[in-house]
Amino acid sequence: MQASWKSWTIGAALIMALALVAGCGGGNGATGAKNNSQGAADPAKTTQEQPAEQTEQTGGEVNIYTARHYDVDAELYSEFTAETGIKVNVIEGKAPELIEKLKREGASTPADLFITVDGGILNTAKTEGLLQPIESAVLDAQIGEGLTDTDKEWVGLSTRARVIVYAKDRVEPSELSTYEALADEKWKGRLLVRSSTNLYNQSLLASLISIDGEEAAERWAAGIAANLARDPEGGDRDQAKAVVAGAGDIAIMNTYYVGQMSVSDDPEEVKVAEQVGVFFPNQETTGTHINISGAGLIKHSKNQANAIKLLEFLTSKTAQEKISQANFEYPVNAEAKLPELLASWGEFKTQQLDFAVYGENNPKAVEIANKVGWK
Ligand code: FE
Repeated sequence: MQASWKSWTIGAALIMALALVAGCGGGNGATGAKNNSQGAADPAKTTQEQPAEQTEQTGGEVNIYTARHYDVDAELYSEFTAETGIKVNVIEGKAPELIEKLKREGASTPADLFITVDGGILNTAKTEGLLQPIESAVLDAQIGEGLTDTDKEWVGLSTRARVIVYAKDRVEPSELSTYEALADEKWKGRLLVRSSTNLYNQSLLASLISIDGEEAAERWAAGIAANLARDPEGGDRDQAKAVVAGAGDIAIMNTYYVGQMSVSDDPEEVKVAEQVGVFFPNQETTGTHINISGAGLIKHSKNQANAIKLLEFLTSKTAQEKISQANFEYPVNAEAKLPELLASWGEFKTQQLDFAVYGENNPKAVEIANKVGWK
């Protein structure tokens, strides 16, 4: 894996230097003076000369292995450094690769946090013995119920719903009801969804295995495969685009892509977001499937206090609003205000499942998808 550390300390170091120049504290004047071999009595000047060292000595660091790849994450890490002086080092990679890396490194790993975007994967990191319980009253208070691992080995950072979008000019929302109903003959040649090799679909299928049982889930998957308007291609966004282009009438996709397209630089994506309706399935039954993005505390973390401090920051009302505003994910902190679009969709009932089942049922879901020919 090609991976290297990135850090967001430059902005923070500058802010700290400025704070010292302005005489409003936030740094360690004594350390600054000691660093100055001339023994000059001007800590502001010293800090300006040595901003990076100053930051490191003041706050220490926290090392993250992350499978998330959003600009807002980097912005928040940078803000955290500015606020605390704690340097944030990041290695980005695909979740399974990062898990392998953590296993390989064992006790010598530099990682403090593992961040990823699927409850099943978070559970895999846990069952592989890579994590440890996170003790923080602040996190307990900030994060909504059911959005933390039962043993507190990981905490949620955001959620997303996997919904049905429909062509507003061809489909009435009253024609839609449940995921299960998408397997009906009625949708033959009209349904779009990406490949079953994608984790979002595997976790959806895994949830239905848990809710409806294995046999029913298999019949469902067979129905989905039979109803597809075309062989699966592209990502979630491409399914919505294909609906608007008339290749099909409805699609299964994650909510945040609709939000992201609504503010896209690409006018075609904005048009797509306007022309599809968003429907939250299973409101009268078992609830809409959601997935979670979260962070686990690495068992061999050397910077535990800093790691927990970062998690408290990321789940604060302010940070949660930023994540939701930038990415259109749902916050885990109920205090956070939703962006207008998400608020306009209204509240909805969610599946009440332990996210661990996404991981536990994943092999079964993959087996079923292959068996029924959902490519
Ligand atoms: Fe995604």
